[in-house]
Amino acid sequence: MAKKKNILLIYTGGTIGMVKDYKTNSLLPFDFSNLRKRIPELNQLPCKIKTITFKTPIDSSNMNPKYWIDIINIIQKHYETTDGFVILTGSDTMSYTASAISFMLENLCKPVIFTGSQLPIGDLRTDAKENVITAIEIASAYKNEEPIIKEVGLYFEYKLYRGNRTTKINSEHFDAFSSPNFPHLAESGVHLSFQEHLLLQKKSSKKLIVRKKLNQNVVILKLFPGITEKTIETILNLKDLKGVILETFGSGNAPTKKGIITLLKQAINRGIQIINVTQCITGSVNMGLYETSSQLKEIGIISGKDITTEAALAKLMYLLGEEVEYLKFKEYFENPLRGEMTVL
Ligand code: ASP
Repeated sequence: MAKKKNILLIYTGGTIGMVKDYKTNSLLPFDFSNLRKRIPELNQLPCKIKTITFKTPIDSSNMNPKYWIDIINIIQKHYETTDGFVILTGSDTMSYTASAISFMLENLCKPVIFTGSQLPIGDLRTDAKENVITAIEIASAYKNEEPIIKEVGLYFEYKLYRGNRTTKINSEHFDAFSSPNFPHLAESGVHLSFQEHLLLQKKSSKKLIVRKKLNQNVVILKLFPGITEKTIETILNLKDLKGVILETFGSGNAPTKKGIITLLKQAINRGIQIINVTQCITGSVNMGLYETSSQLKEIGIISGKDITTEAALAKLMYLLGEEVEYLKFKEYFENPLRGEMTVL
């Protein structure tokens, strides 16, 4: 009989860890050591589940790089003795966290699956049970002694996505996430079916490298019709600014006004990395396709291609933190490091 898999469940906070006190109608944090009592179905899974809870669970709106490092430290400490990780966080910023964790774990060869829920685990109609059970099942799925998933995934409402391809699209529906530019990696129906040809393939012999330096001197600058030069100038001149995610229109287009292009060029000359990411949900940046993006290309703006804003921000913090050589930066950014963008 196959050995039971060791799963580590890390609870950082979020709705999923709440139970409703039906007398008072208020939400109370739930003691994860009682998880099996709350979800007895877990006893049927062929794995041993250990849980670690943040000392003070947080709403994911309070998530930040310090907590990402806390998550990384837990994974690093238990990596050798654990077969799969399930990380529970609030869904609001889960795509940012899953993206950041994907960059921080180089050569990851075990499943790290994020999940959460829209309703608390103790709610009658909760989506938490299914999400947690299936996330654990995915984290313990092995084939020929090798984990099927060797990357950071995000499981929500019957679908497993590549974490750094996701974005939260709905604040109410159980189906809260989308992976607009990459198909889902697995689906839970009658069977748990993996799209094995889409999964990142890695050699398990490679040693995990943990990256903990993130540079927070970055900003997301979303263009809009009517944005003034003053606004752009103020943002680009923020003290210590090192990187900008420039959210542009369509396939990477921006106003052609000379003043705006000059401000962007001056920022690049000061050593600030500027990444062009589209405001569209689906599709890719293609600088040079229109006149409104040719100049951006000429002045040295980096193409984010079809990356999500969440993953772009995490990748920017990561590459700046690693102090990648200025000229190499563009090459690193424009090529996938963890499957976060499509190579055309
Ligand atoms: N506000 C909550 C959070 O992100 C929502 C959730 O858990 O889904 O922490």
